[in-house]
Amino acid sequence: MPAIHIQNLNKSYSHKISALKNVSFDVAEGEVFGVVGPDGAGKSTLFNILTTLILPDSGEISVLHKDIIKDYLEIRKSIGYLPGTFSLYPDLTVEENLIFFATMYKSRIKDNMSLIRPIWQQLLPFKNRYAGKLSGGMKQKLALCCALIHKPSLLFLDEPTTGVDPVSRKEFWEILGSIKQQNITVIVSTPYMDEATLCDRIALFKDGSIVTMDTPQQIIQNFAGTLYTLRTSNIFNLLNIMKHFSCNCTFYPYGENLHIIFYENTSTALPQFENFLKENHQSYDHLTQITPTIEDCFIELTSQKIAL
Ligand code: ADP
Repeated sequence: MPAIHIQNLNKSYSHKISALKNVSFDVAEGEVFGVVGPDGAGKSTLFNILTTLILPDSGEISVLHKDIIKDYLEIRKSIGYLPGTFSLYPDLTVEENLIFFATMYKSRIKDNMSLIRPIWQQLLPFKNRYAGKLSGGMKQKLALCCALIHKPSLLFLDEPTTGVDPVSRKEFWEILGSIKQQNITVIVSTPYMDEATLCDRIALFKDGSIVTMDTPQQIIQNFAGTLYTLRTSNIFNLLNIMKHFSCNCTFYPYGENLHIIFYENTSTALPQFENFLKENHQSYDHLTQITPTIEDCFIELTSQKIAL
């Protein structure tokens, strides 16, 4: 039996805003499952439904084998939840917050200290500091301790690394790896495509629908087309000129580089492209074929292709 079962989930906030459209997927016990997508994709709405905070319009949804509507109180006792917005008590200290959450779940810190020890040790120097005065990364680590202190069997993490510095983001994902070792199922949402590769499986969301769902490796393997990158000194100028390039391809800026996906044979398309760049006086270097990232896959799957 899966830890989470979702069949044909729909949720609208009004007639105009359809936040989730016919969403179906399962999360297996022990998995780290990623819900990945840009702002507005429906990630928080999904998490709010699964954690029994808001009701779906329709769909068959069970969490830990319990119905989210009938059994919502039981579900709340067995899950841990780190919401997208900081939800600890800013005017309680770090230690007081942890005691508060443990007590609320009728649990004791010492019973589950082994679960949070690596994170708690980082927080110890600040245990008497008000939670509201912590840095972004430390706030999220404290929130994770509070979500774990009753040893839930399923942990919901809604954008835990949004607005967190890159070092803390990396540390946070290392911690998630150790949580998985404790047989806790994790469902985590993120707008950062690079984090997707750290999950066992991911669902890529856009505008309330699943674009694709698989292991990150398989999604990359399924990439349609051949991806090239090139470096240029003026990406904006090049993007403007690219509108006039006639080819069955998709192009987009990727940092300071241009990425171009060819959907036709590159033995003819590539020389055409190089010719086009020359004719338009575009200087560039490092025009090379590369392996796509999850971000490239997302763009490939969601972009309007320029088909001839
Ligand atoms: P994400 O977490 O991926 O950014 P959300 O679930 O927050 O996505 O939002 C999905 C869509 O639903 C967006 O269009 C958003 O504006 C809309 N939405 C979210 N919450 C509400 C709400 N309480 N009332 C009206 N619209 C909402």
